[in-house]
Amino acid sequence: MRADDCIFCKIINGDIPSRKVYEDEDFIAMMDVSPATKGHCLILPKDHYANLFEMPEELAAKALPIAKKVGAHLKEALGCEGLNLVQNNGEVAGQTVHHFHMHLIPRYADGVITDVTWGHTNFSDEEMDQIFTKIRM
Ligand code: 5GP
Ligand code: ZN
Repeated sequence: MRADDCIFCKIINGDIPSRKVYEDEDFIAMMDVSPATKGHCLILPKDHYANLFEMPEELAAKALPIAKKVGAHLKEALGCEGLNLVQNNGEVAGQTVHHFHMHLIPRYADGVITDVTWGHTNFSDEEMDQIFTKIRM
């Protein structure tokens, strides 16, 4: 299942080259072409799903063990001391390629600051309670 206008589908098809570091039946992991840090990789399913909400649950359930496996390998191979796992859904969330993927961003205690954090918004206790009422399941 591929999308004609999707760059990641073209990579999976072999139409565009990539530095593939891992592959199994359902997923690949490849180096990000524009890395935030040394060894920044992306994990993506071979089939096209725009985001987390489009993915079948069984496939989504396979993604985190792969992140653990590839992440542990990056730690071993590159000696990073930490790692950010980032996954964007939708343009407002910063998603630019609309084929589900997870970022594995190795972090080093080398003084180089790569910002993968966010600011904080203040809500009153009343507002927090209103939000809580809306989102609790
Ligand atoms: P997003 O912003 O959608 O979460 O992340 C998309 C990521 O895909 C970006 O970090 C970007 O550098 C990466 N990317 C975009 N085009 C290509 C490509 O052709 N090859 C590879 N390997 N990465 C890409
Ligand atoms: Zn795609």
